[in-house]
Amino acid sequence: MLTYEQARRTVIEQVEKARGPRATVNISVWDALGLVLAEEIKTDREYPPFHRSTRDGYAVRAMEVSLGATLRCVAEIKAGDTVMLPLAPGTCVQIMTGAAVPDGADAVVMIEHTNRDGDSVRFERAAEPGQNIVPRGSEAKRGETMLSPGMHLGYAELALAAQVGATQLRCANKPHVAILSTGDEVVAIDHTPGAFQIRNSNSVSLAAEVRLAGGEPVLLGNAADRVDDLREKISRGLREDVLVLSGGVSMGKYDLVETVLKDLGAEFYFDAVAIRPGRPAVFGKCGDTFVFGLPGNPVSTMVTFELFVVPAIDLLSGAPARHLPLVEARLGAPLKEKQGLAHFLPARVEWRGITPEVKALPWQGSGDVAALARANCFLVVPADRGLVSAGDTVQILLRKDVI
Ligand code: AMP
Ligand code: MG
Repeated sequence: MLTYEQARRTVIEQVEKARGPRATVNISVWDALGLVLAEEIKTDREYPPFHRSTRDGYAVRAMEVSLGATLRCVAEIKAGDTVMLPLAPGTCVQIMTGAAVPDGADAVVMIEHTNRDGDSVRFERAAEPGQNIVPRGSEAKRGETMLSPGMHLGYAELALAAQVGATQLRCANKPHVAILSTGDEVVAIDHTPGAFQIRNSNSVSLAAEVRLAGGEPVLLGNAADRVDDLREKISRGLREDVLVLSGGVSMGKYDLVETVLKDLGAEFYFDAVAIRPGRPAVFGKCGDTFVFGLPGNPVSTMVTFELFVVPAIDLLSGAPARHLPLVEARLGAPLKEKQGLAHFLPARVEWRGITPEVKALPWQGSGDVAALARANCFLVVPADRGLVSAGDTVQILLRKDVI
């Protein structure tokens, strides 16, 4: 049985091997959050485009400003003003943050370090050449590449695109991810479940996780635990880039997902991973579609999606697979788990001091969605560590959606 790291690597290798160039689409910078860029974005001019003052104060020649020096203020420059005249020797100009520093000036003295009397400005500190000025072109040259294909567009990347005038961005088409839950006991969320039925919450968590990862969910509802229904709905799912199934991959008599996939010609790269929850997770390929059979217990579905499906969506978007958001924390209360499987326990991390402290939450196992909704991370107990003491350093997998 693969470790979760090996299983992730398997997903990454297989998807990298198979992925071709992606179709692209032009998207407004307002709507491109979370998409993957498919073009180079270059600057349209130098940045900053002029020597920019970073302070409110006086533009001066540094060599004229020693402690106690006095200069005549001859003008005022606001941000946005057109600046033509050079600074004459023996003078200074009042300047605002974001304004262009006139030729001849090589420093800006903060207004806090000056005293003004009419036109006369007295300097309470000596000036250093270059102080409080960002030189023209120091952030970027004209024509320099600022954003590259394969980058995820977050808020800073979008701001940079906007800054250089790229209002339409060529982005990779989102991978389409079909979502199919399975189980005779599962009813649509707008139906009233019978006494022994449950609502299809997995399709909701999966659709949300697909969106967070940058994919486009394609909802296929639920298939009964019958070969004919599974076959029909799985076949429909195989039209998309990825098919994610929930349920039907355990050892039960009615766990038929693998059988049906095999009949449809799937090849499997793993069908179990040494984790709890999530051990029966299946990954394979059927035609051109990558298929994930995730166990149906809601927390298992969520954990295995984060571990295995997210990297596939990244790669199919033309981006590198992002690293798992694993960080270290100090364990707040001792833990004892069965060895041989890596455990992902719903937990809460708190930042009280410098080192985050994490505690596992009480839970009833992998069906306990309520416990996960109270959690902001998973506490990762490695397969070779049955006992973990309070104060030990452990890894946590952050829930990026709520943290
Ligand atoms: P399975 O992996 O098919 O054995 O399902 C395990 C358990 O997960 C089932 O007994 C249900 O309680 C739960 N489950 C399965 N499918 C769903 C679903 N779509 N939404 C919520 N819970 C589910
Ligand atoms: Mg089932």
